[in-house]
Amino acid sequence: MLNIRRKEYEALRQHGEETYPHECCGVLLGQMGDDGARTVISVARAGNTRTDSAHNRYNIDPKELIRIQREGRERGEDIIGFYHSHPDHPAQWSQTDLSEAHWFGCSYVITSVEKGKAVLTNAFELTGSDENDKKLVDEKIEVM
Ligand SMILES: [Zn+2]
Repeated sequence: MLNIRRKEYEALRQHGEETYPHECCGVLLGQMGDDGARTVISVARAGNTRTDSAHNRYNIDPKELIRIQREGRERGEDIIGFYHSHPDHPAQWSQTDLSEAHWFGCSYVITSVEKGKAVLTNAFELTGSDENDKKLVDEKIEVM
């Protein structure tokens, strides 16, 4: 389960509207509970380095990710997930999303943006023990 406040939830959906027709991407920071539930405390926007194909691919610059991780740690927050948008495409993970997901136990949040308007937001947890048996599994989003 992914717990997120209304403000952060709206912020990540709005990000997808702003970058439409390109994909947006960003990082979810917060705390991992003992029961495996993740609670978002803040969201960090990231630039999409995939300028060659920004409408259907996203990638966060590793240097930017390290900076976001460091700034989060200073506030006592860990990286607990990632988000991106699917312009004019369903809020379901693609094969590319799965192959490019490497953070086990983290949430991958996808928002479909249709004609510039954020529609559906879904979350998936990356489960498995290694690259060969990893899976993105439906996860409930609890908007607080
Ligand atoms: Zn995607």
